[in-house]
Amino acid sequence: MTKPTTIPHVRVAGTSLQRGRQYGTQAAGRVHRSVQEYRQVFAHYAGWDWETVRREAARFEAPIADFRPAYLQEMRGIAEGAGLDLADVLAINVRTEVMYAAMARQAPLAARQVPQPPAECSAFAVVPAPSRPGAALVGQNWDWLLHAAHTVVVLEVRQDEGPDFVTVVEAGLLAKTGMNAAGLGLATNALVTDADVGAPGLPYHVLLRAVLDCETVTDALAVLQAGVRSSSANYLIAHASGSALDIEAAPGDFTRLYPLLPEAGVLLHTNHFLAPQIDPLDLSLWAMPSSAVRLQRLRAALTARDTPPTLDDLRPLLRDHADHPFGICAHPDPRAHRYDQGATIASVVMDLTARHLWYAHGNPCQAPYALFELTPAPKRVPATELALPPGSPSAPPCPGPAPLPRQSTPAPPPAPAAPARRASAAATAARRR
Ligand SMILES: [Zn+2]
Repeated sequence: MTKPTTIPHVRVAGTSLQRGRQYGTQAAGRVHRSVQEYRQVFAHYAGWDWETVRREAARFEAPIADFRPAYLQEMRGIAEGAGLDLADVLAINVRTEVMYAAMARQAPLAARQVPQPPAECSAFAVVPAPSRPGAALVGQNWDWLLHAAHTVVVLEVRQDEGPDFVTVVEAGLLAKTGMNAAGLGLATNALVTDADVGAPGLPYHVLLRAVLDCETVTDALAVLQAGVRSSSANYLIAHASGSALDIEAAPGDFTRLYPLLPEAGVLLHTNHFLAPQIDPLDLSLWAMPSSAVRLQRLRAALTARDTPPTLDDLRPLLRDHADHPFGICAHPDPRAHRYDQGATIASVVMDLTARHLWYAHGNPCQAPYALFELTPAPKRVPATELALPPGSPSAPPCPGPAPLPRQSTPAPPPAPAAPARRASAAATAARRR
C-alpha cells in the first residue's frame, strides 16, 4: 500500500461545539475519506447502503445525548466543520457496532467465507510497584483496515470540561488510544460476542472518549458502568500513579464488565476475552484468530522478567513478526479480500509519568517513532484573582504553568531505528499544518 509518512496533527480548544468545528475543518479531507471508505466497508460487511447506515446510526443519537450531550455537540461540530451531516459523523463513530454486529449475526454459519475484519490491536501496560521507582507505560499496535493509514490523525484537545488529552484516532471519531494531562492512559482492543447485535446503547468510541475524560482508573471503571454499552471491547487503562486495570466489556450494563488485574505490574491484551467466565459467548477468536499468537508473543517478552520492561524493551516487541503476516507488527494478508486486509496503522507507546506519547505511522518495523509531549496548558486566571487588595505594596509574581508531577524515569527515551522527530506540541502542530 502507499504509506504516508506522517500523521497530521489536529489541535482544538474551546467549547465542545467549537472543538468539533475545528476538528472537522482541520481534518475535513480525512473525515470525508473515512465516510467514503466506510461506505464500501459497511456494504461489504453488513450489506447496507449508506442511507441504511445513516438510519441505523441515528438510533445511537439518543443514548449518546442522554449520556454526554457535549459529545453529540462535538459530533455536530465535526459535521459542520467538514461539511457533512451529523448522520454521517454518527455513522463512522458507530463503525464498530455496524461491523462487528454483522460479524456476530453470521457466526452461526461458521463459514470462513464471511467477512473477517482485521484484528484490532496488541496492547500492554507496565506500572511500578508501590514505593518502587519506574515509569508507568501503556501502548499498543493499532491494527485496522488499510484505508485507515490515510485517515488517522493525532488529535490534541484542550478543554475546560475535563483534562486535556491527546489521542491517535481515525479522523472524525471521538477517541482511540491516548492519554490525558491527569496522567491516565488508554489502550484498547476489539472484542466480539454473540450479544454484539448492534442494539442501540453507548457506542465503543464514545466510551473511549469518556475514559480519556477521567482523572483516575476508578473514575474510568465507573464511567464504563454508567450506562448500557452497545458493543464488546477491551479497555486497558493505566495511570502515572501506578494504578492499572484491564476492563473487558460485553454488551450490556455493569454486570457485564470483567476487570483483570496486572500480574507483576504488567497487563497484556489482544483480541479475545481472558476473564474465566463471561455471560455471552465469546466469538473473538473465531472472528480474529491471530489474537492467540499475538498474546503468546507479548507474554513471552513481558512476563517472567527480573526487571520491569522499559521503553527500550517495548520497541522491538512492537516490531515482532512471529506468525507473519499476523504478528504483533501486522502486515496485510495478500490472500484476503481487500476489505478484510489489515495492518498495523499506528504504533503508540505512552510514558504516563513524563506525559510523553511516541507514535509511529504504519508498521513500526519500517516507520520511526515521533514524540508528542502533552505539556500543561497555560493557566487562565480570572481577572478578579489578579486584582491587588488595597494597600498592597507590589504585584504578586506571575502565576506560571503548573509543573508536571514528574517522577524518576529509569530508561531514557528510546532511540528509534530511524531518526525520531522530537517536537513540542506547538512545534509539531506548526510543522504538520
Ligand atoms: Zn512489520
